Order: sequence, then structure tokens, then C-alpha cells
Amino acid sequence: MHKGSCHCGSVQLTLPSTPEVATVCNCSLCRRIGGRWVYFEFGTVEISGHPGATAEYVWGDRTLRTIRCRTCGCVTHWEPLPPVPGARHGINLANFDPELVASVRVRRFDGADTWTFIDP
Ligand SMILES: [Zn+2]
Repeated sequence: MHKGSCHCGSVQLTLPSTPEVATVCNCSLCRRIGGRWVYFEFGTVEISGHPGATAEYVWGDRTLRTIRCRTCGCVTHWEPLPPVPGARHGINLANFDPELVASVRVRRFDGADTWTFIDP
């Protein structure tokens, strides 16, 4: 299965399956992170080094918390709030093998305004 990690390796992620679509979002947070989000049910992605090696950021309507490595600063994922099994869970595909990243179709999401996909 697909394994990824933050830059320093403190946080390791293992995906339960191969993602088919990654989302790039232009909201005020995502455009700064520059992440490529792939989604899984919360509880299905194996994550080590979290929460011991991570820090979190919660903003706005507090529906999720964005997680980053406390050492290298790479954003690895976000977790749903409340963190219930089965809820949507975002993983930053940028932490994975570039060949996997290149193979996954990217869709652009207008999280800043219309809350819809804005594919060309
Ligand atoms: Zn790190």
C-alpha cells in the first residue's frame, strides 16, 4: 500500500487504497498550505507519530483540525471535528511518492467562494 511521510519522517501515513482524485482548494487556508487533498473515512488511514510529533490548527466554523509535523512543519492531514469513525478525513497527497502524486487526477475546488468544483 501507499506509504508517505512528512519531510523529516516523524509522521508516517499509510493509505487504505489508491486515491482516484485529489482536490486543490483555493480557500484562505488551503491556498497557503498548497495541499493536494485526498479523502478517506476517518479511521482507515494508518498514521504514526500523531499526536506525539504533531501540532494542530483549528479555525472558522471548527469542523476540522489541520495537522502538521512539529519538527519540519509539513501539513500531513486534517481530521474531522468531531473525530468520529467514518467521517471525511483529508490526507495531503504531497507527502507521498511523486509518481503517485502525478498519477492522481487533480480537481480544483472553489472553497473561497462558490463551494463548487471549477475544473476547466
Ligand atoms: Zn516532520
